[in-house]
Amino acid sequence: MSQLVVMKFGGSSVADADRIKNVASRVTAKRKSGHRVVVVVSAPGDMTDDLIEMAEKITDNPSGREMDMLLATGEQVSIALLSMAINEKGVEAVSLTGPQAGIFADAVHTRARITDIKPTKIFGELKKGRVVIVAGFQGLNPNSDITTLGRGGSDLTAVALAAALKADVCEIYTDVQGVFTTDPRIVPEAQKIDRISFEEMLELAGAGAQVMQPRSIEVGKKFNVDIHVRSSFTEDEGTLITAEVPRMENVVVSGVAYDPKQAKVTLRNIPDRPGVAARVFGPLAEEGVNVDMIIQSAPESGKNDISFTVSRGDTKRAMKLLDSVASQLKAEHVVVDDKVAKVSIVGVGMRSHPGVAAGLFRALADGGVNIDMISTSEIKVACIVKEDDGPKAVRIAHKAFGLDKPHPKGK
Ligand code: ADP
Ligand code: ASP
Ligand code: MG
Repeated sequence: MSQLVVMKFGGSSVADADRIKNVASRVTAKRKSGHRVVVVVSAPGDMTDDLIEMAEKITDNPSGREMDMLLATGEQVSIALLSMAINEKGVEAVSLTGPQAGIFADAVHTRARITDIKPTKIFGELKKGRVVIVAGFQGLNPNSDITTLGRGGSDLTAVALAAALKADVCEIYTDVQGVFTTDPRIVPEAQKIDRISFEEMLELAGAGAQVMQPRSIEVGKKFNVDIHVRSSFTEDEGTLITAEVPRMENVVVSGVAYDPKQAKVTLRNIPDRPGVAARVFGPLAEEGVNVDMIIQSAPESGKNDISFTVSRGDTKRAMKLLDSVASQLKAEHVVVDDKVAKVSIVGVGMRSHPGVAAGLFRALADGGVNIDMISTSEIKVACIVKEDDGPKAVRIAHKAFGLDKPHPKGK
């Protein structure tokens, strides 16, 4: 039966001409088997990082609008080249930017959300029998400017398009065979997970598992889009991210996520009175700086310390905002430690198994890893550790919960 298929290829899958030709072969095969195909692509290789680096050489303070204008070019390179490669194979294809594809987003530059998708042009091109290739990671804001959707945003483009087009299949092709129990680059023993729930994938992605962008999973969950994460280089089945996953009773922890790029900010000796926390975190929230863990120490002679973590990339912005707040509050000093990393364990099994956090702390202690900050939720325990200890902590956590053994069936 003919299906409508969304296929998304990440940067490593389109990093050079040969890889683009490989993608073209896969897409062409799908089209030739009678399916209607919409392809989403990322910028080639490290192009987005390279563009950011170039901007940093020009200015410390680029306008969000121009940054988006710059970053959006990476995906446009991929769509045009892929379209040429597919046409070269005798299959008609057409490339579309996000705006041309009818993807509308809000005005928050570099971190926009998709607000609406009007797929008239996509459907028109599909009707002509063409493969439609859409630039990931970009949309049009209400001022008719391009905005980008945050790092890894092509995943979001793909899942949101699959929802809007009511696609039968949404496939995310990447450089690993699927979602693993942890990053296989750090722990080679990591096991591929056959099926994982939106809920667990959302926590893993939010905690730093780079393989899927967190917001794409939110959209998948909201619109019930099953997402198949698989390798661009093999035909093997990957991981199905879906609503319901039958689970083995004894699986408590499903995966370990690692975020190596965290920073810890501490405000020392600030007054212990109502409104102080709001004063500190209000401006950060207004400017869209995501604060993750927060720890407030026990007050001593009317004074307190507050520590919190942000993504390392947000440190400069956070410090700028805190400067005036800190002096108004007469904080003794503001200290930044940008050499910290976050290691998190995730699993819905934690709900019914007490002692999981204690097990993690014991394993890290036995491995000589010091924990700096801790946060827990119903299905996650996260620890901040020294950056240098990060990979070791991931390996310890992964082993402690038996994740280096083949995954039980049904998971
Ligand atoms: P793409 O360019 O295809 O979007 P990404 O680099 O964004 O690919 O994501 C794939 C990478 O995510 C893998 O190469 C892997 O190192 C990393 N990764 C982190 N955590 C996981 C995990 N739990 N399972 C699989 N890959 C992971
Ligand atoms: N090219 C963008 C990035 O590197 C979007 C993506 O790859 O999904 O973040
Ligand atoms: Mg990605």
